[in-house]
Amino acid sequence: MSEARRVNPGRIFMGKVSHGGDLQGEITDICAREMIHLGRVEAIGAVTRACLGIYHQQDREYRRIIINEPLEIVSFSGNISMKEGQPFVHAHVLFSDNKGTTYGGHLVPGTVVFACEFVIESFEGPELSREYDEETGLHLWNMKEGS
Ligand code: ZN
Repeated sequence: MSEARRVNPGRIFMGKVSHGGDLQGEITDICAREMIHLGRVEAIGAVTRACLGIYHQQDREYRRIIINEPLEIVSFSGNISMKEGQPFVHAHVLFSDNKGTTYGGHLVPGTVVFACEFVIESFEGPELSREYDEETGLHLWNMKEGS
């Protein structure tokens, strides 16, 4: 059965990631610095290198796709929750190359920013933390804790 929780709007941040910065690392650092434990994030911009993970459901492992060329961030959509006591950004990103061809997947460290503008919306509510899930092999939200 689906499970849901009520959360309330909190603080909203707008900013940019530094040129040459790691996309996931810098967004995560902002969450840690501003004590954002629950929320969502969106961003647009460009990168010089993209690193994506594609989860192979049968093998239960992420395989990496690395694209070493200038790309636009067409869409970056993610959420913020807790994993092992630290804010964790789970984001999926769609990139496009100079022909408009798109590549998408789960963002992993190693994506290098050319320019990137983001909006982070924090939520007030009980902590949501990730735990290993036997059924999928992923670290999913534990909806029973913290409510
Ligand atoms: Zn994912």
